[in-house]
Formats: sequence, structure tokens, C-alpha cells
Amino acid sequence: MCSPQHRRDVGAYALGVLGPADAFRFEEHLEGCPLCAGGMVEFGGVAAVLGRYARLTPPGVDPVVVAGPGMVRRAVGAVAAGRRRSRRRRLALGAAAVVLAAGVPFVVASGGPGTERWTAADRGSGMAAVVTAGAREWGADVGLEVSGVPERGVCALVAVGRDGTEETVATWSSAGPGGEPLRLSGGAALRPGAIDRFEVRTAAGRPLLRLAR
Ligand SMILES: [Zn+2]
Repeated sequence: MCSPQHRRDVGAYALGVLGPADAFRFEEHLEGCPLCAGGMVEFGGVAAVLGRYARLTPPGVDPVVVAGPGMVRRAVGAVAAGRRRSRRRRLALGAAAVVLAAGVPFVVASGGPGTERWTAADRGSGMAAVVTAGAREWGADVGLEVSGVPERGVCALVAVGRDGTEETVATWSSAGPGGEPLRLSGGAALRPGAIDRFEVRTAAGRPLLRLAR
């Protein structure tokens, strides 16, 4: 059952400002709610814009996008206003379902039993990423969503096991600052429970972002 609180949580969750316990509860709700999943699509764009803003904030200046609940409220309000304006042109639930089918396989796949999740956001660079790993017989089915990669060139997502072993899960070519957020998937022989953390690294092996559970 979708409540007004859930609708508010969409924005806070997309911006990464929801506490761990609230985030967990919201993820459980998100699995079964096409309205909130549709909202995640819209906020994915907002979060990317805010990530860009955070990246362009000069050093030493607090990027209020991460810390300011007022900013979240205004972002929620802006999206809500946009939805009201376009309501007549939509079949609301149908539209959300179409967006859901076309746009967010990652979000839909992020729940479910045996799926674990790692996240990170760098306030300095504005880079943010979410990794999910679903248990498979052969290891882990891994999904990555990343935005704000600060450098152009080849990047790699590396899984680091609890025992220190490392596996490259996926590689891609980053467009650098201003590049669009991207989603990609890969696989690891490590089971999700055996993975300690993920790292996004440059081709030279330098860490750009470290994702924790
Ligand atoms: Zn909902």
C-alpha cells in the first residue's frame, strides 16, 4: 500500500539521504510499487543533475545537495509540480508501468531474496554509484549504476572478496565530466556474501570510488 510517506521517500532515497533503516524499508516497498518505481526514474535524472552541481561546487564550499533536506523538499516539489502539469496527458498508472518496463530494470532487479547492495557517493568529485549483486549458482549477477565519473577513459568495476581476492566485474569507457549516468551489468565468480566491497578504478588501477554495504 503506497502512502504519502513512501512518495516523499522516493526523492530522499534517490538522493541518498535516507538513513540505512529507512532505505531498507523503502526498498522493500519499492519492489512492489510501480508508482514509486516510476518516481525513481524521474528522480534518477534529478539526482544526476544534483551530482553535477555537487561536482561543480568549489572546494571548501559545502555542497548542500547532500546535506540539505530543504533541497530535497524543493526537488520533490518541483517534480510533483511537473507531474501535476502533465497529469492530463497521462494515464498515470499506465505511464508509470511503461516507464518502469523501459527505464529501470536496474531498480526492479535491486530487490529480491539473495540480492545485496553496495553504495557510495563522493562529495568532492560528485561521483556516485550503486552496485547490486544477486546470488546465482555460478557466483553473482552484478548490476552497476554510476554517475559523475570525474575522468575520461577506461574504468573498471572490481569486486574485492572478504579474503582479499579481486575480480574485474565489468569495464567501460567513461566520457568524463558531463557524461550521462550509465547502467551496466557483469558477473563474478564470488558469491554476494563473499564480497566485501566494490571499487571503481581507472585503467591504471587507481581507485575512483569505494562502495560499501
Ligand atoms: Zn509506493
